[in-house]
Amino acid sequence: MIDYEENVDLSKLCTIRIGGTAKRVYFPKSVEDIIQLLKISQDSGKKIIPLGVGSNTVFRDGILDHLFVSTSKLKRYEIERSEDHAVITAEAGVSFKTLVSLVKRYNLEGFENLSGIPASVGGAVAMNAGAFGSEIFDIVEQVEWIDSEGKLTVSSKDEIDYGYRYTQFQKEGFIYRVKIKLRKSKRNIPQIIKEHLKERNIKQPLDLPTSGSTFKNPDGISAGYLLDKAGLKGFRVGDVGFSEKHANFTVNYGHGSYDQLKKLLETAEKLVGEYFGIKLEKEIRIVE
Ligand SMILES: Cc1cc2nc3c(=O)[nH]c(=O)nc-3n(C[C@H](O)[C@H](O)[C@H](O)COP(=O)(O)OP(=O)(O)OC[C@H]3O[C@@H](n4cnc5c(N)ncnc54)[C@H](O)[C@@H]3O)c2cc1C
Repeated sequence: MIDYEENVDLSKLCTIRIGGTAKRVYFPKSVEDIIQLLKISQDSGKKIIPLGVGSNTVFRDGILDHLFVSTSKLKRYEIERSEDHAVITAEAGVSFKTLVSLVKRYNLEGFENLSGIPASVGGAVAMNAGAFGSEIFDIVEQVEWIDSEGKLTVSSKDEIDYGYRYTQFQKEGFIYRVKIKLRKSKRNIPQIIKEHLKERNIKQPLDLPTSGSTFKNPDGISAGYLLDKAGLKGFRVGDVGFSEKHANFTVNYGHGSYDQLKKLLETAEKLVGEYFGIKLEKEIRIVE
């Protein structure tokens, strides 16, 4: 029997705190549970929605009847250390906070630029999350994932389709476990991480519920710059707006709704299109 909860408040499952009610959310504890859920999805025709920390996800209001599958009970990991490397094998629900504590403890290099991203391993790999010139696929070695028919596949990095904030897993598949490889470092990794976190604190609105970067950066230009120049920094629709601190961060000032968020995004897409002839592409994942 796979654990589940009914009538779940989705605003509590995403960091921007917007969304309606999920009829049911499943909490698998093993790869067998996930395989079973993918088969249920196929038989029932219900769309499977994997849920990580929800830091890149927004839900519509109302009742949602998808097959929501949280990774919050998939938190096992192991670390194998050799003289100059370490390999961490982590289930999808392992948080970046856990990885940060490991890389600090063993002074490992390769993850430090990603350290402040509020992610789960599964969500970060699905999004190919990145920061400060690095992305998670720089260190991914292997992904174990289950396809829509319930088949478990082990893919090495070069067998996976990925790009800037994009992977094949955004179209299909549930990431179960990921292997990442890191180098032992001669630099002071805890200190570098501390500096990155400080910089994030200065540049990002971490005092309000947010879903991070709203739009992907178009080629050669930052989405935040375009939004700022289009007069949208600090612009609000009701309780949802683009942060005063970082124009590409959408924030919830209190009782933000999905309709307000949608209007905000449409306004931004329209204005940036008119001013610059650039079509913005959403980075946040909207579940309707
Ligand atoms: C304050 C803040 C700062 C941020 N900074 C950054 C940043 O610097 N760089 C960056 O890239 N992002 C950033 N983000 C966005 C977000 O943190 C990343 O995209 C992160 O990787 C999302 O991880 P998650 O576990 O929250 O994924 P979720 O939001 O839960 O999910 C994201 C997508 O991945 C899918 N997914 C989740 N788990 C799985 C799985 N096991 N298998 C298949 N698909 C899955 C979901 O269905 C969804 O489509 C930031 C967000 C916030 C709120």
